[in-house]
Amino acid sequence: MSDSEGGPRQVDDPNYHSENHTAVQTCGWTKNALRGQGKCYKNIFYGIESHRCIQMTPVVKCNERCVFCWRDHAGHAYELGDVEWDDPDAVAEASIALQTELLSGFGGNDQVPRERFDEAMVPRHVAISLDGEPTLYPYLPELLEAFHDRDITTFLVSNGTRPEMLAECDPTQLYVSVDAPDRKTFDETVKAVEDDAWERLVETLDVLAEKDRTRTVIRTTLVDGHNMHHPEWYAAMCTRARADFVELKAYMHVGHSRGRLDRDSMPDHEEVVRFAEEMQAYLPHDELKEVPASRVALLARDADTWIPTLEKSSAFWERDPLV
Ligand code: SF4
Repeated sequence: MSDSEGGPRQVDDPNYHSENHTAVQTCGWTKNALRGQGKCYKNIFYGIESHRCIQMTPVVKCNERCVFCWRDHAGHAYELGDVEWDDPDAVAEASIALQTELLSGFGGNDQVPRERFDEAMVPRHVAISLDGEPTLYPYLPELLEAFHDRDITTFLVSNGTRPEMLAECDPTQLYVSVDAPDRKTFDETVKAVEDDAWERLVETLDVLAEKDRTRTVIRTTLVDGHNMHHPEWYAAMCTRARADFVELKAYMHVGHSRGRLDRDSMPDHEEVVRFAEEMQAYLPHDELKEVPASRVALLARDADTWIPTLEKSSAFWERDPLV
C-alpha cells in the first residue's frame, strides 16, 4: 500500500525489518552495547543486557496519535481490516530471525569482540515497544509465553486502551503510558482515535492493581508546556494502579514529532527530576534513581530495582550457553 493511501508506510521503511505484521528495528543502544559504548538505562535500572535485546512489535498500527511520538502517524492507519495474523510462535521466531539478521554485520566489526557478538546472536530480552499498539495483536498473551518459553524476558509497552487484553498479559514487566493527568490534557496530548480511550486507560489502572505475577510501570513522557502539570493527579493514577515503578522521561525532539512540537517542549533533566520529586511527595516510592544522559527518572519503593531473574547469579544466566 502506498503512503498516500495511509497504509503501513513504516513496515516498508528501510530501517524496519519485517515479516508479515511483525517488525523489528535494531535499537541504538543495542548497537552501542555491541561496540562497548554504553548500555541503555534499562540496564542500569533493571539489568537488561542491551546487546541481547530485540526491539519489536507484532503490529505497527496504533489507535492513538501522541503529539510527542517520533513515528509517522501516516503509517499508523488504524483499521485492521482482514489482517491474517501469524501465530505467536511464528512471531517469536520471526523476531529472533530478523534480529540476528540485522546484527549479522557486526560480526566483522573490529570494535565488537567475538564473544559479545556471539551473545547478541542469542537474544535474551525483548522490548515489545517499537511501534504501534501491541494489544491490537489478538494473541499477545500467547506471544509473551512464546518468548518466555525461549528463555527471553519480556517488556511490554501499551497505551492502556485494551484493559481486557492487558488483564490476560503477564510479561516480565508491563509498562502503561500515562501521558496526561486529566481528560482535557489527555485529549490534547494523545489524540486517541476511540472516544472512550480515557475511560479505558482508567480501567487499565485497575487491571494493573490486580497484577501479582508481573512488575508494573507507569510511564510518562513529559512535554514542557503540555502535560507537565498536576503531579498530584499523576500520583493519584499511579496509586490507583499500585504501580511498582514510575518512569518519567523527557520528550525528545526527534523524528516526526519535530513537525508537531517545538524544541522548547523538551524538558531538561533537572526539570524531569523536579517533577519526579513533586510526584514522590504523594507516593510511597521513596527511591528516586536517575540517568541524566537519557533524561529519565525512576521512582521505586525499594532501592533494589533489578529484575530478580536477571541477577548475575540467577538460573536465567546459568542456563545461558554463552555466559
Ligand atoms: S530495553 Fe529498550 S532501550 Fe534498552 S536495548 Fe532494549 S529496546 Fe533498546
